Amino acid sequence: MKRFLIAGNWKMNLNRGEAVQWGQQVASAIAEDHPVDIVVCPPSVYLQAAGEALTDSPVSLAAQDMYHQPNGAFTGEISAAMLVDLGCRYVVLGHSERRHILGESNELVQQKVQAAIAAELIPIVCVGETLEQRQAGQTTDIVQEQVAGSLGALSPQQVSQMIIAYEPVWAIGTGQVATPEQAEEVHADLRTILENRYNHEAATQVRIQYGGSVKPENAAELLAQPNVDGALVGGASLKADSFLGIVEAAATCLNP
Ligand code: PEP
Repeated sequence: MKRFLIAGNWKMNLNRGEAVQWGQQVASAIAEDHPVDIVVCPPSVYLQAAGEALTDSPVSLAAQDMYHQPNGAFTGEISAAMLVDLGCRYVVLGHSERRHILGESNELVQQKVQAAIAAELIPIVCVGETLEQRQAGQTTDIVQEQVAGSLGALSPQQVSQMIIAYEPVWAIGTGQVATPEQAEEVHADLRTILENRYNHEAATQVRIQYGGSVKPENAAELLAQPNVDGALVGGASLKADSFLGIVEAAATCLNP
């Protein structure tokens, strides 16, 4: 039986008051025994405020990024231990905006993944091709290279406990969602890549989210795909109502 993971990535949006209001609204809507794992990724400066608003709710906190060094002269950066201290359970790593706008390499993502796991944070590692790469028929090669480069020498057991988010760059923030078939094809390829690189157990147990213009209206058909284990949601997570609509679509998929 699948256990969906729906994560809302606010990116650099909302203010403190809005973060608190969002947390309170979601906390009051989600029962302790909700069948879906729910995660929110506020900007780091609002992790504490959002976390306090979500106290006593099963919604977990995630950071949108971190640095791999434990401490030191790294102005502007945040360590894994600091995130744990703030109550984070997950951390998004290698988001396409960090790879493409901020120039993060697979090597850096891999260092961050290792530091996150060492601090007992669950990494949500993002992979995905650009439109040009898809049109050139390179999608599988690109996600394979990102998986190899970003996960590196993790053990199969470590891989089985992490999250991978397949986020085609052309679908992020564009309104141009992948079709359920396109998402399923890459998710199935990712399982084969992981099985070849790690083992069968790791490949079946790792949860693979789809991300890219997920909304309440299109979530159910994406989540119904056999290899789609959840969604990483950007724009549609900014309003609590629309995020809750996606969470409910996941719950309905489990109990139609
Ligand atoms: C994202 O931020 O990872 C994302 C998928 O954004 P959006 O849902 O807005 O496409």
